[in-house]
Amino acid sequence: MAEKILVIDEGTTSTRAMLFAAGGKCLASRSAELTQHYPGPGLVEHDASEIWRRSLQCAHAMVLEAGGADQIAAIGITNQRETIVFWDKATGEPLAPAIVWQDRRSAPLCRKLREAGEEPGVQARTGLLLDPYFSGTKIAWAMEHWPQLKGAGDRLAIGTIESWLVWKLTGGLHITDATNASRTLLMGLGSGGWSDGLLDMFHAPREALPEIVDCAGKFGTTKLFGGEIPICGMAGDQQSATIGQACLERGETKATYGTGAFVLTNAGTIPPSSKHRLLSTVLWQLNGRRTYALEGSVFVAGSLVQWLRDSIRLIETAGETEALARSVPDNGGVYLVPALSGLGAPWWEPDARASLSGLTFSATRAHIVRAALEAMAHQSHDLKTAFAADGADWARLRVDGGMVTNDWIAQDLADILALPVDRPDFAETTALGAAMLAGVGCGMFAGLEEAAKMRGAGLTFEPKLDADARAARLAGWDRAVASIVTPRV
Ligand code: ADP
Repeated sequence: MAEKILVIDEGTTSTRAMLFAAGGKCLASRSAELTQHYPGPGLVEHDASEIWRRSLQCAHAMVLEAGGADQIAAIGITNQRETIVFWDKATGEPLAPAIVWQDRRSAPLCRKLREAGEEPGVQARTGLLLDPYFSGTKIAWAMEHWPQLKGAGDRLAIGTIESWLVWKLTGGLHITDATNASRTLLMGLGSGGWSDGLLDMFHAPREALPEIVDCAGKFGTTKLFGGEIPICGMAGDQQSATIGQACLERGETKATYGTGAFVLTNAGTIPPSSKHRLLSTVLWQLNGRRTYALEGSVFVAGSLVQWLRDSIRLIETAGETEALARSVPDNGGVYLVPALSGLGAPWWEPDARASLSGLTFSATRAHIVRAALEAMAHQSHDLKTAFAADGADWARLRVDGGMVTNDWIAQDLADILALPVDRPDFAETTALGAAMLAGVGCGMFAGLEEAAKMRGAGLTFEPKLDADARAARLAGWDRAVASIVTPRV
């Protein structure tokens, strides 16, 4: 009987396919790099055909590994969010490059709309802010600058990456899941449907958009692997990781520390509204009912370690930071505020620049590296404060991502947040979340609670730092941040 789950995890720099057993064991995986196109300053594009080709190759390898399509109960898809694809419904071929979430080309439009006073209304309807990050202003830009899109008339299809992959897998099904739709600026957060006012604002033709569906269900089947396999799960990557971390109850929180850091707290079934510039987003939609999340992101996390390694050459490998941090008893008064590309939530200071402060002759390489790692806990603490002020404080934190393979960082998070920090043994929580959704969608599990048994064991880091030392660290950080951000009135 088919009881394996195939996950396609389509990321920004690579795409992967993974094969899971129903119990949660990862049986195999295959990944392929994706070409990044940088046609100009601030512009980032992908070739949607390449994304499809590479995802298909990886998926094929997993079907072979499984012993054929009849061994696979369901496919789950998780993807880089906000990236937007334009294609021709008649040919199934892209009409233009995919505009990637990192792309800043719509910054002038965002500024114009903000100056016109549109942000509060957009935030109230979508839970998002007017930032080029989200798909809506990318669509508006593309409709204005790429004549072939309007020229395609009713053959134009627009969708985020999971929508594009489902179209290709099924040969023409045009759907998107509510988590991905909630990142477009086009969906009403409360209604779960495309909003006419927002479609007008961003010049998005309704007929070009996919139907918004649940995150789990029998959406369609693919016949591309030598048999029929149903597609049963879909969610954007951060939502999928939150599900993979089994944050199923209100208040449960996960933080992923990769290149940047993303924190999502399950906010329950009423759309949260943030007063501290956090994002409100759909965490999942099942049986037409939505569960929401509050989201905060830190722009610079692991990229700080990469910068220390590649630009400053203070270290040779990311891994050596752990021993260096341990080699000194404390930071020696050194603080590093890593605003290398501005400060994200809750500061939102795009023009802030990084600082290294508190240096004396006794400061060593180890102190600077330690200050860099400590910045993760400090930035997380700032986020925790914003979440708490929005009524969504954390009781413990579930962590994943490349940085928290570093035990010192995991312990420092526990110490500074004064919370238990849980790290699962199986780190691929994004793929796991998509597998859980697919398992629910194909009926293998009755619901997410049952699917959560796929998560497996982990390690908990308990807070150990004494209160005075913690207060001193936080005060030092606050002073360091205050010296680079504009004081708030
Ligand atoms: P992404 O998914 O964003 O590519 P990953 O979750 O793979 O990122 O994490 C990679 C990041 O983690 C890199 O930026 C790297 O510098 C950092 N990193 C990896 N190992 C360590 C470590 N032991 N200590 C500190 N940082 C690390």
